[in-house]
Amino acid sequence: MKQKIFRLPETVINQIAAGEVVENPASIVKELIENSLDAGAETIAIEIVSGGQQLIRIEDDGYGMGPEDAALCLERHATSKIRSVEDLQGLNTMGFRGEALAAIASVSHLELKTSDGTATRIVAEGGKIVSVAPCARNRGTTIEVRSLFYNVPARKKFQKSASANTAQVARMVETLSLAHPHVAFSLHSNGGVAFEVKKRAMKERIEEVVGSFEHEIQRGEIGGFIAAPAKAGPTRTGQYLFINRRPIFSPLVAKAVKEGFGTRIGEHSYPPFVLFLEVSPESVDVNVHPQKREVRFREEGKIFRLVQEAVAAAFAPSVSFPESLSFTPPPAFSFAEELPWERKEEAPVELPLSFAERPLAVLGSFLLLQAEGLTLVDLAGAHARVLFETLKEERGASQALIWPLQLELKRGEEAIAEELQGIGIECRLLGSKTLVIDALPPFLEAAHFPLFLESWKEKKKLDQMAPHFCRRIKKSYSLEEANALWRRLQKCGDRLYDPLGRRIWTAVQAEDLEWMIRGSKN
Ligand code: ADP
Ligand code: MG
Repeated sequence: MKQKIFRLPETVINQIAAGEVVENPASIVKELIENSLDAGAETIAIEIVSGGQQLIRIEDDGYGMGPEDAALCLERHATSKIRSVEDLQGLNTMGFRGEALAAIASVSHLELKTSDGTATRIVAEGGKIVSVAPCARNRGTTIEVRSLFYNVPARKKFQKSASANTAQVARMVETLSLAHPHVAFSLHSNGGVAFEVKKRAMKERIEEVVGSFEHEIQRGEIGGFIAAPAKAGPTRTGQYLFINRRPIFSPLVAKAVKEGFGTRIGEHSYPPFVLFLEVSPESVDVNVHPQKREVRFREEGKIFRLVQEAVAAAFAPSVSFPESLSFTPPPAFSFAEELPWERKEEAPVELPLSFAERPLAVLGSFLLLQAEGLTLVDLAGAHARVLFETLKEERGASQALIWPLQLELKRGEEAIAEELQGIGIECRLLGSKTLVIDALPPFLEAAHFPLFLESWKEKKKLDQMAPHFCRRIKKSYSLEEANALWRRLQKCGDRLYDPLGRRIWTAVQAEDLEWMIRGSKN
């Protein structure tokens, strides 16, 4: 019998695999932008011609590659981002498969110019390297992809029109720019500017790219903006979800948001939102979709509730009552959410401590105290406040990391190690550029540290890092814990507001209770 089975050559394997990772110009642009972000770029310039079919060019000022890495990066499964499957758990880069460049190169003419100080130019055709030579370039990387799918006619035939591809690419660049406000992005199409944003703060970037929103959410793992119910539309185009900064399509989260809106919107209308979920890498599997567009949550129910509650809370007053009851708070105390920057200097608040207050019950993360009337304490807020003060005053006990974190610093940033030690983060420099974090204070999770570092570089002040303190808060407390937290809170300088400026507790006098229930005082 004649032999029928043959091993496929590497280039054919890459072309077949390319179908999954690189479907169209937008997916290529996504992979290339993510590589630039992973390389720490602050400016990313993209250019396309004919929707990307003729040319996709991306230029960044990231840390680039040296000659050896440059020669390797077009090979399949070549990556600098993980070494073992376990590394996926602590992943803080966008890429990890080492597939994108190999896949893109296998279906195009590709030119790579990159420099980490030493510049290299590589030309590949259909995935085969045809030239490697030194060249001139500042630190950073430029990749040019020409004649896309020239050697895969079947795929080429199924490509959309140039204008449809241009629109898709633009949407991709816009979307990615939302999650990376500290990076400047530009997109040129056929020589004209299609999109351009400068470095901004998150809120301004979102306003610039998507528009303004009525409600802001800042709650544990969830942050972002949602539109007023009246702005809900017939499609999902205004909905942007990011999980650990990756743009993700998640029917589960979309549904949870909708439920959070409750009866405020109709069944077939979709409220615009930009939401960021920051969860620990272990609780979500990003390795379920070749383009990392979908994820699998370990605890779906928990994520669902988290999102739904955060959205619902954005509409509700700070203490929520059953919706069917219409409730007007008594004038004695205010439910209005004051923003921290609008807070006026206030006289020191007298806590109801002179009498024996009794912890009654814990409802979710609320503690109910019996004082003269009732005191309702948001334990998460109290917890954040206590952690914040502990770190500021006496440096809280750090928790050693099982896997120390390693992060690359840029030139001139070496002083950061000392600054971080100054706020109780155990770290050291390895060589001149690698920052190793050995232990973190309890409020900070390893997965969130890169974000923390990013804002530290900008703000340099613990006081302005408040959002990070409100991140990792227990979801439920025992009555003893709640009681201890309440006691500990009394020793804090600010006992009324959490580090984000949200009320920690509110007291209802007995007579106000009467007012609330009967609608009048006796
Ligand atoms: P992955 O991103 O999954 O590691 P890629 O095929 O996208 O795989 O890239 C392979 C490797 O090439 C990366 O791990 C990285 O080391 C390097 N690389 C790619 N693009 C850039 C870039 N713009 N700047 C610096 N290094 C890059
Ligand atoms: Mg990549």
